Amino acid sequence: MNVASPPPDDGSGDDGGYPDPTPEACPVDAPPTDSLVRNFCDSVNASQQKEILDALSQFKANNCVQAGIYSNFANNGTKFTFCVSSTMLTKNANIDLATYTITINVNTITTTAVGEELFHAYQNSVYPNGTAQYNPTGRVDIEFEQAFWQDIIQTSVNAGAMNGASQSDLDAYKIWIGSITNGDTIYPRSLSAADQTQYNHFLYLYYQLHPTMGTPIYLTPQAVFSSFIYFGCK
Ligand SMILES: [Zn+2]
Repeated sequence: MNVASPPPDDGSGDDGGYPDPTPEACPVDAPPTDSLVRNFCDSVNASQQKEILDALSQFKANNCVQAGIYSNFANNGTKFTFCVSSTMLTKNANIDLATYTITINVNTITTTAVGEELFHAYQNSVYPNGTAQYNPTGRVDIEFEQAFWQDIIQTSVNAGAMNGASQSDLDAYKIWIGSITNGDTIYPRSLSAADQTQYNHFLYLYYQLHPTMGTPIYLTPQAVFSSFIYFGCK
């Protein structure tokens, strides 16, 4: 890392942002980089940085939709600040949409956690005027759309959106995902009216599994459609 020489100490105590001239403040090696990384929070240590970089590499390697979203951000110059938290107990990660800062639970630095937040950023770019307007009202719609997207691209065996649901609801959801993807051979670019009704049904079940997110406002999953229209290879 190249750092300009600090100016002479003016005695003000304000170092103007220059690093302390102590040996431990000097990075030994330049950190590895990724097109989507603006920077890391100071608290992210070297091994955690590597875990985050590995998660990003895996995200774009997993399938063409994720590769497309990754490239879209890279081509647009969209970058993220990555932080970790040891006090985040019930979530894997979150994203501040104003600054594109992704904070990851220190115990779950995974492709799934990073990928969820990258999709939330993608949703923010697709919905007119962004998705901050859907917090809190509509948050459950945004979260269900993300889970629905994961279930399609990871194939219907996962059905993570219905985690905690009854076996019959889980089975019905898997059958429906199989139906709209023609047995995992296509990515749906739209839903028929009947399938939108089914989507809303499962959105409501998802709300019942996550009641603290508030009641649905029944948004159409336009970021899912957009990701398949622009980046789908099925
Ligand atoms: Zn989420």
